[in-house]
Amino acid sequence: MSTEPEMVRSSHVFPHGFAFIDGDYRPISEAKISILDWGFLRSDATYDVVHVWQRRFFRLDRHLDRFFNSVDRLHMTLPFNRQRLTDVLMECVRRSGLDDAYVEMICTRGVSPTFSRDPREAENTFIAFAIPFGWIASEEQRERGLNISISDIPRIPPQSVDPTVKNYHWLDFIAGLYGAYENDAENVVLVDLDGNISEGPGFNLFVVKEGRATTPASGVLEGITRITALELCAELNVEASLGEVSVEMAKEADEIFITSTAGGIIPVSRIDGNAVGDGAVGPVTQHLTSLYWQKHSDPDWSTPMD
Ligand code: PLP
Repeated sequence: MSTEPEMVRSSHVFPHGFAFIDGDYRPISEAKISILDWGFLRSDATYDVVHVWQRRFFRLDRHLDRFFNSVDRLHMTLPFNRQRLTDVLMECVRRSGLDDAYVEMICTRGVSPTFSRDPREAENTFIAFAIPFGWIASEEQRERGLNISISDIPRIPPQSVDPTVKNYHWLDFIAGLYGAYENDAENVVLVDLDGNISEGPGFNLFVVKEGRATTPASGVLEGITRITALELCAELNVEASLGEVSVEMAKEADEIFITSTAGGIIPVSRIDGNAVGDGAVGPVTQHLTSLYWQKHSDPDWSTPMD
């Protein structure tokens, strides 16, 4: 008999929620994948995250369009059509009993039955789950604005990994986050190979100067909240465009905000150690935020659970 001390197992903490995996619904704590799945071994996966707010999906069609496009671009196949996928997402939320939820759908390369290294031989895995809605910034940060640092680490270039296919290639973001924490910042935005602003871990970024909003045109995930913010700008008669955002533009901006499904439109009040504008949350950001949340009950922008 072994005299080795028994390894202390780390305790995994699972949030409340339900998953669809291997063709069945399971509580999150019982939703497991093979460690040989290429989604896990090689980050060979795509995913999308949509949120439910007060029992309504926000912009579900946009998220489904992006997910189907991503799956296609990676030469993967989903076991479902659009209607069946919608039913599965709804059922995960229904079983979780959540009013406000973070709902993720994932397609991974899966495992090849013969363990061949040819990705065409793998059987793709589909997983979906619903857990409680999670914010990219705390309530206090959302009120006063985030303190963000600009990393000099370039985001993986779009020539290498297509950023419009939502992916788990986050080691550049994670390195950037550690750098930001060393500088007493709360979050990070990466640059591109030309040194212009790209995106952050889970968000796009907008700068506002003299009432005009600009967000990076390319080299980033085409965030659904980014598109939403552009549409809301049009409704509010705020001039908004896609373009190059230099580090100087960020440092001289009157306002900066980030956009993400995990929290919507969130102000940034400090960038690289300097106050943005006068350091208070500006009027464009405030108006956009309040219109963003109003749209959550608008039937043109949201789909009820039942
Ligand atoms: N950029 C990256 C790299 C992301 O991972 C995300 C969302 O997770 C976003 C931007 C924001 O996209 P969305 O507004 O669709 O949540």
